[in-house]
Amino acid sequence: MIFVLPDLPYAKDALSPYISAKTFDFHHGKHHQLYIDNTNKLIAGTELDGKTLREIIVATAGDTSRVGIFNNAAQTWNHSFYWQCMKPGGGGVPTGPIAEQITQAFGSYENFAKAFKEAGLTQFGSGWAWLVLKEGKLEIMKTPNGDTPMAHGATALLTVDVWEHAYYLDYQNRRADYLQDFLDKLINWDFVNQQLQK
Ligand code: MN
Repeated sequence: MIFVLPDLPYAKDALSPYISAKTFDFHHGKHHQLYIDNTNKLIAGTELDGKTLREIIVATAGDTSRVGIFNNAAQTWNHSFYWQCMKPGGGGVPTGPIAEQITQAFGSYENFAKAFKEAGLTQFGSGWAWLVLKEGKLEIMKTPNGDTPMAHGATALLTVDVWEHAYYLDYQNRRADYLQDFLDKLINWDFVNQQLQK
């Protein structure tokens, strides 16, 4: 069994001007593809061959002898999840069960949005900001490089990629503007509600 690049859930120009087709050409077509190719190469012939991504990530988390496998498998999973966290015409105040949960956990959507943006802004260097469910509670989390919530006993509900490759072609150094557009224009709250109901 080998892992293959999933299609984007929308046309590659559908999130323009916030995320351009050119960014998707590189980010989906080159970066995500490379994480997948590396994962396939690194697990070939090992006892991880044939396992699910989740099993591979959990098995190699914190294992210093298998950092390469963990990083590539986690990045494979993180990107597949991130594409689904966005949709054309998305963003803004959520509806459905996640709306109530956010109000309960953070006091208001505005508080949530501020904290989520802050997590993305303060992740030094490359990484991810997340909304997760941990021990039944919503939390905001940030992870460096390829690290991922399932390696820390948390369930991902929403993520934004803050590696420079995610936004540099469209925003250059303006990470804050990318995060604001992600919040206001891109989040697929239907997908987040689906994750909550799992
Ligand atoms: Mn990325």
